[in-house]
Amino acid sequence: MDFELEGIGMTSRRTRERLISRLREKGIQDERVLDVILRTPRHLFLDEALAHRAYEDTALPIGYNQTISQPYIVARMTEVLLAAGPLQRVLEVGTGSGYQTAILAQLVEQVFSVERIRPLQEKARKRLQRLKLYNVMLRHTDGGMGWPDKGEFDGILVTAAPEEIPSELLAQLAVGGRLVIPVGGQHQNLRLVTRKEQDLYETQILEGVKFVPLLGGTVR
Ligand code: SAM
Repeated sequence: MDFELEGIGMTSRRTRERLISRLREKGIQDERVLDVILRTPRHLFLDEALAHRAYEDTALPIGYNQTISQPYIVARMTEVLLAAGPLQRVLEVGTGSGYQTAILAQLVEQVFSVERIRPLQEKARKRLQRLKLYNVMLRHTDGGMGWPDKGEFDGILVTAAPEEIPSELLAQLAVGGRLVIPVGGQHQNLRLVTRKEQDLYETQILEGVKFVPLLGGTVR
């Protein structure tokens, strides 16, 4: 996807290249992920007042006490999700600004993304349409339940932290599928869960992280 051809983000290309160098320094190696981050205009996923900070490697507020994730974390989670090979159906829990959704949409066949706060979901929808990312389905729901009627996913990426991994998400992971999820309260760690067999899950702890909590219910 070449957003530059659509006249989006011309002015900040050099700034974005600096961000990519920073992500490389921090250990991100997957060139596909770095390339998609380079070309995706993160400033369009922020309110105008914060757009000038879009290419800092930091989380930023998006309203409703929520944040757009730090680019390093977006890169790391995406890299881990994709490490075992190409993915077809990915569920994202916590659409937020839609930025991580946009990154995924350029790297996998189909993205299903759920968000519990309706106004955030609506803004994300407009941004994704503006970028012509049509392989995304959004739903306003409590993502702790996953998206059961969409069947199994070969990747699940969660952008808010539960205290324990919801069993519904484990159940919706296909055999061979990968779940990347922050877990914990005050002290959280990022985990990779692989469904090895029907009843066998393997968990790896990747690194310490700080995410907003995964909350129940929905907000209109
Ligand atoms: N990937 C997003 C981005 O870069 O903008 C991250 C947004 S923020 C870190 C996490 C999001 O998860 C918030 O928008 C929050 O409302 C949402 N969230 C929290 N609990 C949820 C739940 N149970 N179901 C769906 N979304 C949830």
